[in-house]
Amino acid sequence: MSVVQCQLCPKACVIPLGASGDCRIRVNMDGRLRAVTYGYPSAIHIDPIEKKPMNHFLPGSRSFSIATVGCNLHCKFCQNWDLSQRNPEEADAVPLPPEAVSVAARQYNCQSVAYTYSDPSVFYEYALDSAMQCRAASLRNVMVTAGYLNDAPLRELYRHVDGANIDLKAFSDAFYRDVCGASLAPVLHALVTTKAMGVIVEVTNLLIPTLNDDDLAIRNLCRWIAENMGRETPLHFSRFEPQYRLRHLPPTPAETLSRARDIALAEGLHYVYVGNLLLADAGTTRCPRCARELVRRTGYVVELNRIENGRCPGCHQEIYGLWN
Ligand code: SF4
Repeated sequence: MSVVQCQLCPKACVIPLGASGDCRIRVNMDGRLRAVTYGYPSAIHIDPIEKKPMNHFLPGSRSFSIATVGCNLHCKFCQNWDLSQRNPEEADAVPLPPEAVSVAARQYNCQSVAYTYSDPSVFYEYALDSAMQCRAASLRNVMVTAGYLNDAPLRELYRHVDGANIDLKAFSDAFYRDVCGASLAPVLHALVTTKAMGVIVEVTNLLIPTLNDDDLAIRNLCRWIAENMGRETPLHFSRFEPQYRLRHLPPTPAETLSRARDIALAEGLHYVYVGNLLLADAGTTRCPRCARELVRRTGYVVELNRIENGRCPGCHQEIYGLWN
């Protein structure tokens, strides 16, 4: 019987009958490729949108957040490895078909649905069908992803997407290959393409001691974002906690995160945040023109929002994002 090749992500798995691809959840059943977690999320939560993290997207709103198991990356530092690296038959899951996602999101007073925690790239059909249902119900869609998806499916999915937080795990192909089991170029393509499609894109870089935290690596990453995505692209530096296969490394020191933020601002990025750590001003949005404090956050809580019609109330500078 026939072998199938998956065209969804750059791994291009060739899958024998009865076997699954590298992400564990796309299975060759009778010569047809099936995503076995379709309609069966293993995580459902109501999160503040700031937890995604999205700081320029309906601040203070709630996001109905779902994920199935499986991932097409195998990051040694994965902070959600218990979900992303689990086999579908080992996981608890509940039935929640796409038409029920929008109903539940409305029921819990959410303004958006987030496809998150593991990676929506591998539960692609479920995310796509749910996103279309949610759009029809006037809900926004947010992808939280590593951005490891081929161009055609990426363009098809993101037509229905309003916001995305995409990881840029390091500006290094060697890092992607050695630490994540992937490659850099498709991620850069996803970052540029989704932004060009009009999606509100924020970028997250998890800083891991000794692996991607030297000044040059940080500067190169920031410079690439500024030159290829625009200085208005929000960047989140996130603190690493020892997890999964990198338990021997320490958490990211506060000084490293602070230094990274200084480098990003010096490279001209307008909105730079620090996550997973309470640093002074870590979640504050300032006007890039007049430096006025616009949004003040403590952790995931929005304490103040002065943005008016997407602009600074002082100098009327347009502020990147979706504000109401
Ligand atoms: S989505 Fe999964 S099965 Fe398809 S190519 Fe990527 S890793 Fe392989």
